[in-house]
Amino acid sequence: MYLGCHLSASSGYAAMVETASSIGANTFAFFTRNPRGSRAKQENPQDAARAVELLRERHFGPLVAHGAYTMNLCTADPEARAFAADVLLDDLRRMAAIPGNFYNFHPGSHTGQGTAQGIEYISAVLRKSLEPGYPVTVLLETMAGKGSEVGGRFEELKAIIDAVGSNRVGVCLDTCHVYDGGYDIVNDLDGVLAEFDRVIGLDRLKALHLNDSKNPFHSHKDRHECIGQGSLGLKTFETIVNHPALKNLPMILETPNELPGYAGEIAALRGLER
Ligand code: FE
Ligand code: FE
Ligand code: ZN
Repeated sequence: MYLGCHLSASSGYAAMVETASSIGANTFAFFTRNPRGSRAKQENPQDAARAVELLRERHFGPLVAHGAYTMNLCTADPEARAFAADVLLDDLRRMAAIPGNFYNFHPGSHTGQGTAQGIEYISAVLRKSLEPGYPVTVLLETMAGKGSEVGGRFEELKAIIDAVGSNRVGVCLDTCHVYDGGYDIVNDLDGVLAEFDRVIGLDRLKALHLNDSKNPFHSHKDRHECIGQGSLGLKTFETIVNHPALKNLPMILETPNELPGYAGEIAALRGLER
């Protein structure tokens, strides 16, 4: 199983592979730039090449980069929207240094314009950003449906995927978000996956964010809890890591932890593997 967590990108790609290895991870996530700002790091092709070599040698699964939270592709503010589009294109170009990995991002918040308009903006930007053909698959993250977030329903992700019309678009399922969003993965994981398959198609599911939730089912809140300590509970994660449709996907922890805490959760989850 490919398990990992969010790592600080400040030390470079090769150092992230070393850090991941040191905590028992064989994939990881990182922010392509300051998650709450937009500054990107200086590019270092030697470091990226070294990382690619290490990832292969150590049999890592695909990495799951995360776009900045500030990148809102469907905001009502045209300047901010154009800026977000520039950020996305630059991030995808940067991902070409470590080819074949995933770039996950929050579809966006429509800030009052309505879901249909949001979907239209997001799809248009994605179509354009995929045109250069950078070797990366973008993943739309399933959202909790907080405020004006787009992507809280599988139907919304499907609408974006259809409008973009590329096989370089997939989905990253966040366990906290879908549960908060009203998909009962605690009592009926199979039913939720059947619904995902019916609406989107399971072939589009490329990665998981493993998070417990601080809030009850259908709360639309999005506050992550450590594995086994929230409303999802350890049993749910045992089912997830052993599920035939999920067990081969890269699984990324975004729980409130530092490295030792992540190491503990990774070991615990590996211990649940049947
Ligand atoms: Fe996210
Ligand atoms: Fe997430
Ligand atoms: Zn979240």
